[in-house]
Amino acid sequence: MSQSVTVVGCGVIGLTSAIRLQEHGFNVTIITRDLPPNLTSAVAGAYWYGGELATHSSRHRWSSISLAEYLRLASGDYCGVSTFRMLEVFGSPVDEPWYKDLLPFYARVPRSQLPVGYADGYWIEIPIVETPHYLNYLVERFKQGGGQIQQRTITDLQELVPEHPLIVNCSGVYARHVAHDAQVYPVRGQVIKITAPHITTAFNDDDAFTYILPRKDGVILGGISQKDNWNLEINAEDSVDILRRCEAAQPEISSAPIIAEFVGLRPGRHEVRLEREQLTEDCTIIHNYGHGGIGYTLSWGCAADVVILAEQVTTQ
Ligand SMILES: Cc1cc2nc3c(=O)[nH]c(=O)nc-3n(C[C@H](O)[C@H](O)[C@H](O)COP(=O)(O)OP(=O)(O)OC[C@H]3O[C@@H](n4cnc5c(N)ncnc54)[C@H](O)[C@@H]3O)c2cc1C
Repeated sequence: MSQSVTVVGCGVIGLTSAIRLQEHGFNVTIITRDLPPNLTSAVAGAYWYGGELATHSSRHRWSSISLAEYLRLASGDYCGVSTFRMLEVFGSPVDEPWYKDLLPFYARVPRSQLPVGYADGYWIEIPIVETPHYLNYLVERFKQGGGQIQQRTITDLQELVPEHPLIVNCSGVYARHVAHDAQVYPVRGQVIKITAPHITTAFNDDDAFTYILPRKDGVILGGISQKDNWNLEINAEDSVDILRRCEAAQPEISSAPIIAEFVGLRPGRHEVRLEREQLTEDCTIIHNYGHGGIGYTLSWGCAADVVILAEQVTTQ
């Protein structure tokens, strides 16, 4: 009989972990308070980001694994993942990015061709995820693999002992509560979705935290990054600020109709927590949370390590 695993959380981290565990022969159940699209993962932009936001020593390996998986997904039937060209710009000169040879396209922009006010930049081709569509795809893939989803709120992971001997904790920012991890904090984000089919390339200015992401369901404008802010309401001043910065980068945005606005809480932490914890003699938890602003970028790589840890637990 296959080993049972309970995954807490149905965001991008929980779903990718659950799917990879399933593919390695585990019998997986997801327990979750919220279902897509009512979670942080549905709010994200979301593009594969190779920058140095994460501090974990495995970040490049995790990002590379995810990149390869997104490129594979983008080349098949549409599941919410496409590749787009993105112009990345910088206020001062930067080194070549570590991932440039992994991408389908990379080209340095000559200084004379940079937008006014920037000192450096490059064109990259990267995966962008239409998050609501992609999360539905992951849910269906998980269910078709025999997975069960139970909608239930837990207040403490201890509640799951002893019925659930192997738990994977993918509770995002709420790990602060269910795993009592005071090092987890919210980083509030807000994005605007507009209709602008003429925008077919992406733009990112890391220094100004300003991005424009074309997707099949609209164009996502961002961003906002507010540490320790738990507010899930849309803030009108934040919207004005996002529009001002994005219009400065691409003036034609000013006439585009707004379709929707979204708020989400990134699970901030000084580094991702991906490790085993022996809760009791008969219960092991694998924590997989704290991915901050790059959960999509790290998801498939982290899921691969979850499988390794789960196999260690079951073979020891
Ligand atoms: C505006 C914005 C833009 C972003 N852009 C990008 C991007 O471009 N690229 C990128 O890589 N990342 C991006 N991110 C970051 C990314 O969205 C997150 O890192 C990722 O979604 C975190 O996923 P998660 O599954 O850990 O958390 P979540 O999606 O929050 O899922 C947590 C899960 O845990 C469950 N849960 C929580 N508490 C309980 C409980 N008590 N009982 C039961 N279940 C519980 C929830 O119901 C939910 O299912 C962005 C985020 C935001 C907000």
